[in-house]
Amino acid sequence: MREKAQAVVIGGGVIGCSILYHLTKLGWTDVVLLERDELTSGSTWHAAANIHGLHDSTNISRIQHYTMKLYKELEAETGQSCGVFQPGSLYLAQTEEREHQLRLQAAKAKLYGMNFYEISVERAQKLHPMVDYTGIRCVMFEPDGGNVDPSGVTSAYAAGARQNGAEINRFTPVTATEQQPDGSWIVRTPKGDIHTQWVVNAAGLWGREVAALAGVTLPLQPTEHQYFVTETIKEIADNAERLPSVSDRDGEYYLRQEGQGLLVGAYEKNMKFWAEDGTPLDFAHELFADDLERIEDNMMNAINRVPAVGEAGIKRVINGPMIWSPDANVLFGPVPELENYFCCNGIIPGFSQSGGMGLMAAQWMIEGETQYDMFAWDMARFGDWAGKEFTRAKVADQYAHRFAIHFPNEERSAGRPCRVRPIYQAQQEMGAVFGLNVGWEHPLWFADQPGTKDTNGFTRQNWFEPVGRECKMLRDAAGIIDISNFAKYICKGAGASDWLNALFANNMPKAIGRSCLTPLIGKRGGIAGDFTVTRVAEDEFWVIGSGLAERYHTRFFKQVPLPKGTTFTSHTEAICGFNVAGPKSRDILQRLTNASLATADFPFMRSKMIELAGVELLALRVSFTGDLGWELHCKTEDQTRLYAALLDAAKEFGAGPVGSRALMSLRVEKGYGSWSREYSPEYWPQEVALDRLCKMDKAFLNKPAVAATMATPAREHMVLLHLNAADVTASNADATGGEPIFKDGVGIGRVTSGTYGYSVGMSLALGFVKGAKAGDNVDVMVLGKPHRATILAEPPFDPKGERLRA
Ligand SMILES: Cc1cc2nc3c(=O)[nH]c(=O)nc-3n(C[C@H](O)[C@H](O)[C@H](O)COP(=O)(O)OP(=O)(O)OC[C@H]3O[C@@H](n4cnc5c(N)ncnc54)[C@H](O)[C@@H]3O)c2cc1C
Repeated sequence: MREKAQAVVIGGGVIGCSILYHLTKLGWTDVVLLERDELTSGSTWHAAANIHGLHDSTNISRIQHYTMKLYKELEAETGQSCGVFQPGSLYLAQTEEREHQLRLQAAKAKLYGMNFYEISVERAQKLHPMVDYTGIRCVMFEPDGGNVDPSGVTSAYAAGARQNGAEINRFTPVTATEQQPDGSWIVRTPKGDIHTQWVVNAAGLWGREVAALAGVTLPLQPTEHQYFVTETIKEIADNAERLPSVSDRDGEYYLRQEGQGLLVGAYEKNMKFWAEDGTPLDFAHELFADDLERIEDNMMNAINRVPAVGEAGIKRVINGPMIWSPDANVLFGPVPELENYFCCNGIIPGFSQSGGMGLMAAQWMIEGETQYDMFAWDMARFGDWAGKEFTRAKVADQYAHRFAIHFPNEERSAGRPCRVRPIYQAQQEMGAVFGLNVGWEHPLWFADQPGTKDTNGFTRQNWFEPVGRECKMLRDAAGIIDISNFAKYICKGAGASDWLNALFANNMPKAIGRSCLTPLIGKRGGIAGDFTVTRVAEDEFWVIGSGLAERYHTRFFKQVPLPKGTTFTSHTEAICGFNVAGPKSRDILQRLTNASLATADFPFMRSKMIELAGVELLALRVSFTGDLGWELHCKTEDQTRLYAALLDAAKEFGAGPVGSRALMSLRVEKGYGSWSREYSPEYWPQEVALDRLCKMDKAFLNKPAVAATMATPAREHMVLLHLNAADVTASNADATGGEPIFKDGVGIGRVTSGTYGYSVGMSLALGFVKGAKAGDNVDVMVLGKPHRATILAEPPFDPKGERLRA
């Protein structure tokens, strides 16, 4: 066994082997995989191994398409069969909502050149005559869908990696991973130790146990999962052509041909956890006892749709373990608090995603960043707050709703409340409908009746009118928005200014009381974050950024060494905030403070420590609403007192609480981009109009990369679109994000944020397009159907920024 390696991959399932293969593909050949048993010994060997390309998320679709294509290439490269069958997949819609979802996916497929399109029921009948199509509203066909042989695929990755120089050691359990002072690792096994730069946790069912060796807790929970295979069915035996698989997600089962029978798998409502206190170390190539009663309802749905399932006997039942994260997505990326420890855990569709995840993992380790924005799958989206109870509740919910449609703006209630701030109860009593944000409850909108819940769908829902009233109140008078979600950091010390200048792309404010907006630049020269930095004292700065991205951003903060004696600390929990905005915000606030808020004394982009309603706070004259307004940041223990005073003072002016859905609408009316939608490492500064904030006459993190991207013409541009009112009224739906944009039938871009702009009376969308300019007419595929739209030359609300600066 090698004693040194560039990377040690722990786990020889499909994911570990794919990562090993891709590391070698990208040039690291001195890599080792350690497997405690035979390869495939976790979930891999017994998987149904269906493969699909299309997904609600565009980047996951890209990853899945890459994977589907790779299997054939891998076979050619290694000579090892992956057992690929690609008879295609039929997607059935039983409900209007499913039809919307599938039509949107078909529109995306057209934009990205992926093979997924609608076919007639007659054509579907020819492709799969055993399906009863009664009640099916539409059918989509994915010609490349199918399944693979799980062991074949794993062996092919392993063979490819070995061919490229990797070493694989089976029956070699990792017993310890020890970080060295220089950031490298010692990986210990009974057969010897390996000194390595990177450790990769691909230990699947044992992801928690392997993480714990490095002192890391991962929010993961295994469950049981079952499928069964029928005896031979005559029609299948007589048919020379393999049948396409059937995705009848409204029926909550999956179905495909296996041998000369059918395979049916189910995500049942009364799911069963396994190994809650830890995955047994001696478990390998084992299954659980059959429990078909648990999946009876799903089986009945399958039988109703494909009667042959009920007529054939059951030949084999597989009841095996799989491991889930709280949102059923992979926990991906380096652990931010450690050096060079990479996680790729909790993948549910391992066979649809193995190739893409392996490629992304290798890119991240070798090139420093992935080509696609992986923020939604970054393990940094969870933190210590995602404890065992939260994880259990979420996993139970995710499992039971695996095939349910996940609507835009959907908020699921499982596991909540998890984290609350002092005013939570007061907000509840005022009718707040809450969303989950980094574990915190935060108000999305305020209903007339406390206890009201969101309805869900692709069309306008029960919150459409109330959010409109909040927007109107803010634009006519003022609104109080809870912005405690923002991440808040304080940088203090003689080296604070230098350090922040070395980190961020913009020049840091020189004068006390000044603020600046600044991008953070990623390894490939894209936007890794957007922040507001305020100088509150000669040696003290407040940095405000996205709360969602706080753990993600720590990886960047670590890359610039802090000068001795200078500190940079998170105050996100200790500080709460409100944005009081709207034309009457000054009048409301002036009632509560002796500090002058007149523009002459407190202009736009300035800040002051003031006392307001008897509370010491930092007031910043900025507002994401694009209106006159202040952000007020106070100690968490003062939040209740401040909120009560603000609400009380607001009453007289016809103002009140406003939630984050309204904020979304207000910022889009101004054309403001937002982290993880318009701002992402995939976009270059000049594509999102942030290039003017990159100061090329100073050094900052990843400056050479951004210099290279800025020297290249923009690939596309962020634009604001106005959707035709008649089309929007007819569909009763606004864009929500992800909708493709076509011009004269050619795909030119996609929506990143969509909303109704209540104060301007326009359905709006922010998005990226290429080859189109202001005034051009395009089609936005809301619900997968063309909605005429015009690219606006300027934001419809206050284009000159007069309200902001009033
Ligand atoms: C019944 C069932 C059906 C499924 N059907 C599908 C499907 O149709 N399509 C699909 O895409 N996915 C399917 N899956 C999911 C799929 O099986 C998983 O996504 C995939 O196998 C995960 O692979 P992995 O490599 O992450 O983990 P695992 O397969 O669990 O592999 C982890 C490996 O790590 C090794 N290991 C653990 N600890 C150590 C240690 N300390 N030292 C060394 N090695 C260690 C283990 O021995 C194991 O071999 C199904 C799963 C189940 C249970």
